[in-house]
Amino acid sequence: MHVLLIEDDPLVASGIRAGLMSFDFVVDHVSTLSAARQALKIVTSDVIVLDRGLPDGDGLQLLAEWREQGINVPVLILTARDAVRDRVDGLQGGADDYLVKPFDLDELVARLHALLRRAAGRSSGMISHGALALDPTAREVYVDGQLVMLSRRELVLLETFLQSPRSVLSNDQLKDSLYGMNDDVESNALNVHIHHLRRKLGSVVIETVRGLGYRLGKPEAVHLAGAPYKGQRHTEQPYKDLL
Ligand code: CA
Repeated sequence: MHVLLIEDDPLVASGIRAGLMSFDFVVDHVSTLSAARQALKIVTSDVIVLDRGLPDGDGLQLLAEWREQGINVPVLILTARDAVRDRVDGLQGGADDYLVKPFDLDELVARLHALLRRAAGRSSGMISHGALALDPTAREVYVDGQLVMLSRRELVLLETFLQSPRSVLSNDQLKDSLYGMNDDVESNALNVHIHHLRRKLGSVVIETVRGLGYRLGKPEAVHLAGAPYKGQRHTEQPYKDLL
């Protein structure tokens, strides 16, 4: 899942960035309103973390612009001000949630997962699709209750499909969920990950929609291809995937 982080305090930003990355979020960080405007033109973010006090204005300004333009990406406001008025302003301005600094990283992660869950219209924390189940917090995937070994990128990609199970996702959308703006991405990297997912979960787990992109296969199409993985959990070696 791709997070756009808009925060001007370098220490706070690097802490959030490192923390979210350890939960497999792809994080793009900008520190001004104008850079955020640019970023949103370039990448598709699944969720936005927005500071209020920024060098070129109040984050709420930007939020108002986005909502006016019909951009409905879930937004969590970060604020140092614990005044009731500020929180009310944020929520009335179209924010979906807020956190008061200083906050606990686990709480931020839990709230972002909750926002993504609500955006996808799910009520439970587990994301299920036929025999397939993904635990976004534990970063684990199961087929018929059996743990499946996926690389970090494969898991993120699968999570992106599960987040929009009925949508056709374009190559660009899928790449944005996997990589940050400044990542150097090999042109066939996405195809490689899709190939691996099909090999591990069955060839019909992801359908190719010619000329448009890809879509998650029908729930009944998902099954475990090959023997179940019975080794180390993927979370213990999350950064071995170099693509
Ligand atoms: Ca600030």
